[in-house]
Amino acid sequence: MTSGTDQEDAIEPRQAAGLILIYHRIGVLECDPWGLAVSPNRFAEHLELLRKFGQPRPLTQTADALRRNELFGQSLVLTFDDGYVDNLHNAAPLFERYDAPATIFLASGYIGAAREFWWDELERILLVPERLPGELRLAAAGKIWIWSLGEACEYKDDERRRDRAWSLDKRGALSKRSELYRAVHRVLQPLDDVDRLKALDDISVWSGDAGSARPSHLCISPDEVMALKSSDLIELGAHTVTHSALSTLPEEAQRQEIQQSKTDLERLLGTPVLNFAYPYGQYSARTAALVREEGFISACSTQAGVLTADSDLFALPRVKIGDWDAKRFEATLAQWLPSEPRSHVAFAS
Ligand SMILES: [Zn+2]
Repeated sequence: MTSGTDQEDAIEPRQAAGLILIYHRIGVLECDPWGLAVSPNRFAEHLELLRKFGQPRPLTQTADALRRNELFGQSLVLTFDDGYVDNLHNAAPLFERYDAPATIFLASGYIGAAREFWWDELERILLVPERLPGELRLAAAGKIWIWSLGEACEYKDDERRRDRAWSLDKRGALSKRSELYRAVHRVLQPLDDVDRLKALDDISVWSGDAGSARPSHLCISPDEVMALKSSDLIELGAHTVTHSALSTLPEEAQRQEIQQSKTDLERLLGTPVLNFAYPYGQYSARTAALVREEGFISACSTQAGVLTADSDLFALPRVKIGDWDAKRFEATLAQWLPSEPRSHVAFAS
């Protein structure tokens, strides 16, 4: 996942030499508070439209060209964060159909795990039940947090529908239940993995959640990673071990997350893992230096912007794509890129 907030401080679309797109999931979800899912039909439309704007390219090739100062034309790079199982079942067949290369960033500790990604587990606990108890008390980050639920005790169908629409266009007000979800999410996100899982367990007990992971919300298994690897169109990148916000961790813990995710993936794949993406787009200058020191050739941020010859290889801008129809997708790309690539030669060789 990238960030709970809208992208800000966008870089002006001048001297565009390419654009990196962020997706997470290809599927249809009942509840999608962060707007992570794009339906397969819409994703196919996106892939169809992409070529109007440039050439879909692998991230490694694009990063190499940028490093050698040979990034010409307009490269379009597809990236997927987190490694949801639908990337294999729904996205990969469409990569093949449209001959579109993509990079999937995996949080190695979630590969084959029995638990959902933590933000999904929290969603299951707080946004699936119709009724919740009246007060949530949670010990986390050295404090006691108390939420009186009030109207959020009940979550009615019309509120669910409104919240779902909100995640697409951010208009109107969220339900009290969704506000609770976001407030608890804000407390849990900066915690380290051990404290976060403990907090999730406590909230689960409080809510009476039955506790079984939804298969649709799991990360891929080691066998499924190998199935992705078998496609010539797919590159796999690292996204830490526990999907923690790196800049909130001590330096040694950051290094461990970065190094271990690379080692875990390389051991599984038997090939070098060259690209990294910062969870939630959070990193400091030191984080970027650690990623470079650990042998990666690039790192993707979530700051919206175009690729230019001056782009920082360890803070590559990316534009988040939602479940948009063809018109909105095309308008978004047009906002960033001129519709006619300046050159059909994407790379000097
Ligand atoms: Zn992520």
